[in-house]
Amino acid sequence: MVEIEKTVGEEGKELVIHKKIPNHGAVLKELIDIVGEDYVMDGSASLFVYSGDMTENVAHMPEFVVAPITADEVQKIILLANREKIPVVPFVSGSNLGGLAIPLEGGIIVDLKRMNKILEVNERDLYAIIEAGVTFADIKDYLDKNHPNLVYTYTYATPAAGVVPNALLEGLVTLSAKYGATVAFINGLEAVLPTGEIVKVGSCATSKYWFSRNPLPDLVGLFTSWQGMTGIVTKLAIQLDPKPAYTGIKMIMSDEVHESFQLMEELGRAQILDNLIMFNWGLVLAVIQMPREVAGSEKDEASPTIYLEMDYSAINTIKELEAKEEIIETLAKKYECGLWDYKDVGDGITKVLDVPMTFAGLFTHGPGGLTWIGAYGPCSQYETAYNVANEVFSRHPRFTPWLYAKTFKHGHFGAMRTLIGFDRSNAEEVRETRELMREMAKGLMDIGYIPYKTPVEISEMVLKRSDPNFALFMKKIKNALDPNRIMNPGRWGL
Ligand SMILES: Cc1cc2nc3c(=O)[nH]c(=O)nc-3n(C[C@H](O)[C@H](O)[C@H](O)COP(=O)(O)OP(=O)(O)OC[C@H]3O[C@@H](n4cnc5c(N)ncnc54)[C@H](O)[C@@H]3O)c2cc1C
Repeated sequence: MVEIEKTVGEEGKELVIHKKIPNHGAVLKELIDIVGEDYVMDGSASLFVYSGDMTENVAHMPEFVVAPITADEVQKIILLANREKIPVVPFVSGSNLGGLAIPLEGGIIVDLKRMNKILEVNERDLYAIIEAGVTFADIKDYLDKNHPNLVYTYTYATPAAGVVPNALLEGLVTLSAKYGATVAFINGLEAVLPTGEIVKVGSCATSKYWFSRNPLPDLVGLFTSWQGMTGIVTKLAIQLDPKPAYTGIKMIMSDEVHESFQLMEELGRAQILDNLIMFNWGLVLAVIQMPREVAGSEKDEASPTIYLEMDYSAINTIKELEAKEEIIETLAKKYECGLWDYKDVGDGITKVLDVPMTFAGLFTHGPGGLTWIGAYGPCSQYETAYNVANEVFSRHPRFTPWLYAKTFKHGHFGAMRTLIGFDRSNAEEVRETRELMREMAKGLMDIGYIPYKTPVEISEMVLKRSDPNFALFMKKIKNALDPNRIMNPGRWGL
């Protein structure tokens, strides 16, 4: 750990400043030798930009920011950091919503944005090999221009968000109902380990094709959900899909919570959807960009309680699409839910559903604070999770409940996401946000859901509730891979 010099700012708006390492000048010179003068920063204004994010998490100043352009440069940075025992935090856009790229123990931020090449697209085997800094905008634009018959999957995050961190963090996307979280899209990867070796994992370790994680021991898991604690992934092979010839989106708007979730379970099992999401009224008002004072913190009589969005597609024929529509209509009728074509729902919503989608409206709520507890769990507990989340929000009436649930892998599991918009300039509101987060995590874990992409305090709660040998096993792996504890230290409380 780089020692703490001081903490400035009141509770709720803290900034931790770490002491400079004694050989700061010598390390700076070595970093400049590796990446060039233009790509190393150690001035306080530049470092401040990387110290915090939009969440409630305490900000920490890094000591250096470096922006390598090759795996070879990443390797040299890690070898230097390992020799000098300086913390290293990989970074692309910092929009993870869990404070995960905040340098808890100071050290070097490795900004990977310059590593933005799409190295290969294999049309016949349906994958792309990308570098660590490729964004969702990059991959979409590249495929649209060069391989218009192929698509990747997209998030609700900013198009500037990194594809690699998203996959490593098990993100939720437009094809989640079909395939699961984005970890399922990873065919293999190349990474620089904390001790400097460059390794390949997946079929690419043995074959010249990055076609799959099968049939070797699946070591991709050593990098996923570890929040950058086990190495820096420099290349990732992602699964692509043929672009469907036909697509459709249907919406259900309902006040019947129980029926809506039952319908959601059945729609998952029907195996016809690419994407299946439940938005609550609060989130719908927010994403169509109504400021807090207009949207209010109470549901008005006219707005439906629940919105179900169903995205479906057909690769070959319109008949395939129509068959899916028929199944959706039958199920909607069974639960007496009215069905809308999304085009008829209104401009605000359709705007949000276009790819790349963005939840930009969420940022109009107060000066910029946004955070969340997202949890994965069984679809059978959707309704209970929804009730728990609403109950927690009801204890904190200053926050509008923003909820959405999602179905993964045709109903094999689901997500309940609770987003919290808050005023970052109001220390009291930040404190209450932290309280709400703890209550939400506890409530959802009590019913069998597991929060993911979590800040340290919540990660520690997760590990405390886990089989003690699981936590021990994680520690053993971390120590074996990173004996000097340099990679994103402090995450998961490790
Ligand atoms: C409004 C909004 C909506 C969002 N909607 C979604 C959504 O629909 N679905 C979803 O999944 N997410 C969503 N997110 C969360 C987030 O934007 C995504 O998960 C995003 O892809 C993370 O990428 P990033 O570039 O911000 O990663 P960063 O924040 O830069 O990094 C995230 C973590 O990954 C580590 N890391 C980064 N690069 C590497 C690497 N090469 N090797 C090892 N570790 C690495 C970092 O150290 C950090 O721990 C949303 C966020 C916002 C603000």
